Amino acid sequence: MRTVRLHDTYSGALKELRPRDGRKVGIYACGPTVYGRIHVGNARPFVVFSLLARFLAHEGYEPTLVANITDINDKIYDAARPAGRRSDELAAEMTAAYIEDTDRLGLGRPDHEPKATLMVGEIVALIGELIERGHAYAVEGDVYFRVRSLPEYGALSHRDLEQMDQGEGVEGAALKEDPLDFALWKAQKPMEDTAWDAPWGRGRPGWHIECSAMAEETLGAPLEIHGGGVDLIFPHHENEAAQTLAARGRPLAQIWMHNGMLQLGTEKMAKSVGNIRGLREVLDEAGRDALIWFFCEGHYRQPIAFSSERLEDAARRVERIRDAGRRLVPGDSPEDLAPLREAFFDALADDFNTPRALAAMADWIREANRAGGPVGDSQLREMLGVLGLENLLERDAGAPAEVVDLAERRAAARSQRDFAEADRLRDELRARGWEVRDGAAGQELVPIGP
Ligand SMILES: [Zn+2]
Repeated sequence: MRTVRLHDTYSGALKELRPRDGRKVGIYACGPTVYGRIHVGNARPFVVFSLLARFLAHEGYEPTLVANITDINDKIYDAARPAGRRSDELAAEMTAAYIEDTDRLGLGRPDHEPKATLMVGEIVALIGELIERGHAYAVEGDVYFRVRSLPEYGALSHRDLEQMDQGEGVEGAALKEDPLDFALWKAQKPMEDTAWDAPWGRGRPGWHIECSAMAEETLGAPLEIHGGGVDLIFPHHENEAAQTLAARGRPLAQIWMHNGMLQLGTEKMAKSVGNIRGLREVLDEAGRDALIWFFCEGHYRQPIAFSSERLEDAARRVERIRDAGRRLVPGDSPEDLAPLREAFFDALADDFNTPRALAAMADWIREANRAGGPVGDSQLREMLGVLGLENLLERDAGAPAEVVDLAERRAAARSQRDFAEADRLRDELRARGWEVRDGAAGQELVPIGP
């Protein structure tokens, strides 16, 4: 088991992963607010934390990955109202769409995907504890967190109190003791079609308290790794950290791990900016293998510029791995390649450095190509497995060579965005009795049944 170090936003330094309980590692990664279909930028934390969990499992840790679903939120009311929809129906539909879209990444599901609507009891209890301890106050059916009651507030985002805007605008401004305070519970408004009972009145929880409750309910505190995009550090994660520390007297997380944003043009990809590309459109166009490779080419902490060219580039690299795999034979890899395999996993143990790991894998392939005789594929299979790309070594068993050739030409046409040619080749495959599926495990050839 390697020692794993990760960059911790709280301390601003690399921190060694030290599980509370032997090998168990709790990872809580903030998931989507389900008011619209997710875009490819939202898929980045899903991929980063899914692959991190795979790597930790490979090292002998026992990770539990939790990615919540925020299905109570202002954004859901705001999206449902103009569409003339019920907010709970929209949230349920977009939850299903999120599951469907992320399933196509072929990385499996997180171990738990708690929904705020199913944890209102725990959320209400946590707010009650904060009121009890003097860290929160109820006023006219709302409840606010008393920021100045917690001296540690601001330690995660490294901001002065003067630089903090909770982003709640004028809402509740007249009710707050201090403009710094943020909402834990909001009384139901006439335009809102869902509400829950609480001792201080009917209403619904704020976003930040949902995550504190779901995180400690599923993983306990302090959990090992709390993750999310850098855009969540303030106010969301600062407030999550404050709530749990104030209510329980212990930190929410040992390591705060933040991924950089996906950028399109000069700005981060975001619905609010209007520069988004849907995850499912990108998967239709490039396939999951290329998208995962694309994410791994950047260090998780850095921003990545999204473009079709870079995605096509990733698709070509993936094809080179497939080609390399065809030159290997099933079985044990030679021992003299083992140091390159070690370099791959050492890079991941060092702040999950996927670009350095990919470079080590490229070195491994180059050395394997130089070897005189047949080279066993076990080490490459192991490396690809941690990245969720072991399917690149699958041979299309059973399909005749000319059918495999057609399928490969179709994949190449798709990666060059020549969809007309890709469709033509698909029809030709069908005429020969083979269906090509772009499934979770990449392109697959399946005989058409009688
Ligand atoms: Zn969260």
